[in-house]
Amino acid sequence: MFRGRFAPSPTGPLHFGSLVAAVASYLDARSCGGEWIVRMEDLDPPREQPGAADSILRTLETYGLEWDGPVLYQSRRSEFYEAALAKLVSLESLYPCACTRKEIADSALPGIEGPVYPGTCRHGLGGREMRAWRVRTNQQEIAFEDAVQGPQSQILERDIGDFILKRADGLYAYQLAVVIDDAEQGITHVVRGADLLDSTPRQIYLQQLLSLPHPMYAHIPLAVNAQGEKLSKQTLAAPLKGDSPGRALWLALDFLQQQPPQELAGANLGDLWPWALANWRLRNIPKARALPAPTL
Ligand code: GLU
Repeated sequence: MFRGRFAPSPTGPLHFGSLVAAVASYLDARSCGGEWIVRMEDLDPPREQPGAADSILRTLETYGLEWDGPVLYQSRRSEFYEAALAKLVSLESLYPCACTRKEIADSALPGIEGPVYPGTCRHGLGGREMRAWRVRTNQQEIAFEDAVQGPQSQILERDIGDFILKRADGLYAYQLAVVIDDAEQGITHVVRGADLLDSTPRQIYLQQLLSLPHPMYAHIPLAVNAQGEKLSKQTLAAPLKGDSPGRALWLALDFLQQQPPQELAGANLGDLWPWALANWRLRNIPKARALPAPTL
């Protein structure tokens, strides 16, 4: 069964960039008769905004983005993440780490996403107090074919370093939860923003360690503002107002270079969705879009 998903973090209301990701994953699944589910990635309370999860779900409904089954909330799934950590300990792939961010920054080489952890605690804490749990990486090349971005590869030990799965504050890392839940929910196709392209080899590696299936991946271009910054709460992206959902959907299809006809530019959702489903072409999606996202 083809099954796709949209997995927002409830850090704020949906903006144009998150609508594009939702629309792309929805059309990818629905255009071939697949299921589409929504998972709330509410793993990081300090970054979340009260009411954002409900507001995201209401906005999806406003746009006619109907999901299958109940919404899964990651905040209720600690026991499954703990079980995965225990399995990784039994495989000797997970170890406690006592290093602070500063200690790492002082001694590490730069990697793709900041300093590469130098492996200080791989062979023990040296009497220091543990802070976080890290997964051991290696020199194996992790390669995959992204349906939009093309061939990708990383050597995790060199490019990322041993990475954290449970943080010093007790919170589970996104990389762990996303892998457990994509497997639990039988996700076959992941369509999401290109900011997560560099995370994918870590997720494939965890799937290998935990003997979980590998979904297909497609990373769509990010919507940026006039300054070239990713749309996000931090860059004060405007929330979708929902007063002209047809226009926003047309613009999302245009952003994804699906070539929606001009005569549908003022159409309502009831006319746009059938066109979008019949004309969805993943291969038309560009790798990147330099143009700023439209203002709605
Ligand atoms: N929750 C992540 C975000 O909102 C997306 C996770 C994913 O699609 O894998 O950025």
